[in-house]
Amino acid sequence: MSEAVPIGGYLPVSFIDWAGHVAPVLFLCGCNFRCPYCHNGDLVEMTSGRLDLEVILEDMKKRSVFLDGLVVSGGEPTIHEGLPGFLSSIKSETGLDIKLDTNGSRPDLLGALVGKSLVDAVSIDVKASWSDYPRIVRGYGRPVSESLELLRSSGIPLEVRTTFVPDLMKIEDLIDIEKQIGPDVRWVIQLFRPGETLDPSLRNGSVPNIEELKKRFPGTILK
Ligand code: SF4
Repeated sequence: MSEAVPIGGYLPVSFIDWAGHVAPVLFLCGCNFRCPYCHNGDLVEMTSGRLDLEVILEDMKKRSVFLDGLVVSGGEPTIHEGLPGFLSSIKSETGLDIKLDTNGSRPDLLGALVGKSLVDAVSIDVKASWSDYPRIVRGYGRPVSESLELLRSSGIPLEVRTTFVPDLMKIEDLIDIEKQIGPDVRWVIQLFRPGETLDPSLRNGSVPNIEELKKRFPGTILK
């Protein structure tokens, strides 16, 4: 099971990765996008070490009474065809609810997870206006749009996240993104942070103007 779905990182507890939940986070290796601002280069390039799922399960089982759920993140979890079996095993071993973090590029696999009730909440990234996806993430927007539609109609608790990177996008791009997300969804604008980004040219990149974002998107969560 753990061979098919490589685990590159494990955070035993987080208070910020699933709103209102105390939850460990599993980071799966590999990604099919190449966002220049990504801080998880070791996961994306699959250069991180591999962790043993059995050891992690034992740890979670011991502490399950104190946990509200588990976050499965990446990299991009849905690139792994074994993900449904992987999540099913974790659920039956730990009894924990699972939130999936995804870039939305695999509506087929996401549909299977939702159909089998293997995820209890989803955070999906909407990283750009659909037509701008190739420039921003080196991937395509159409599958992400399908995933978003699927999740919106599923009724599953949903969060949409957009990383605002001033060196790559304008406030007007965020306005387009807000329109394509649609109403009545929890939308989080993540603020770009310089650091060890996939694209070295962004390592000292500009940071967002928080006051301007607050003015233009009142009520939207900035993180
Ligand atoms: S930020 Fe982009 S490249 Fe990095 S893990 Fe997420 S989708 Fe992949």
